[in-house]
Amino acid sequence: MAVSPIYGITPFSLLDYKDYTSCIIWFARCNMKCLYCYNPEIVFGKGVYEYQYALDFLEKRKGLLDGVVLSGGECTVHTNFYQFVEDIKSKGFKVKIDTNGLRPFTIDRLITNDLVDFISLDFKTHKDDFYDLTGSQIFEQFERTLEILLESQILFEVRTTIHSELIRPRDFEKMLRFLEQKGYKQTYYLQPFRNGVGTVAELPPSVISDELKQMKSDDFEIIWRN
Ligand code: SF4
Repeated sequence: MAVSPIYGITPFSLLDYKDYTSCIIWFARCNMKCLYCYNPEIVFGKGVYEYQYALDFLEKRKGLLDGVVLSGGECTVHTNFYQFVEDIKSKGFKVKIDTNGLRPFTIDRLITNDLVDFISLDFKTHKDDFYDLTGSQIFEQFERTLEILLESQILFEVRTTIHSELIRPRDFEKMLRFLEQKGYKQTYYLQPFRNGVGTVAELPPSVISDELKQMKSDDFEIIWRN
């Protein structure tokens, strides 16, 4: 029996898609298991809604919402995800996708067919630590997604969650050099790990050092989000 893809829907948000009123569709399951993941119940949980439930929800909100944020979990791993995005676009909504970048083919196809308006790409860490932090070996897939975004005209951002025990200044240095070498020129967003929330692994408190906070790139701006 097919497993339902959608864990839940946040009906209204002004924060997750800048300048647009949107809802957030949370997809169950993920192809990573990041140690600091805030959503273990989504990553390990079961979806309860089918695509049609979300499409019916959106049909009733035409003219009330500008956009739809597809988040999770990892939305791109689900069967028929492309068709689902096509159906959302046909209703006139803007689409933002939050992704860890492990499905470059899907992202490329959506961009090529003008089905996505904005992408937030999570840059978890540099290649050497990628498996330890995410449980995934395939850094190259993330790298390919970044290249696709850079080669396209799509609006996008790269962002990283920083836990001080998982990304130290020397790691962050490698990440900055990687982005520079790839030709990234846009704002790089950082979000400090929020202590005291449930995560995939038990972690010590995160304390971001001044050294890390002050690190810069000559090629792009770095902004910390709280
Ligand atoms: S933080 Fe990692 S494990 Fe959690 S949803 Fe995002 S990519 Fe998946």
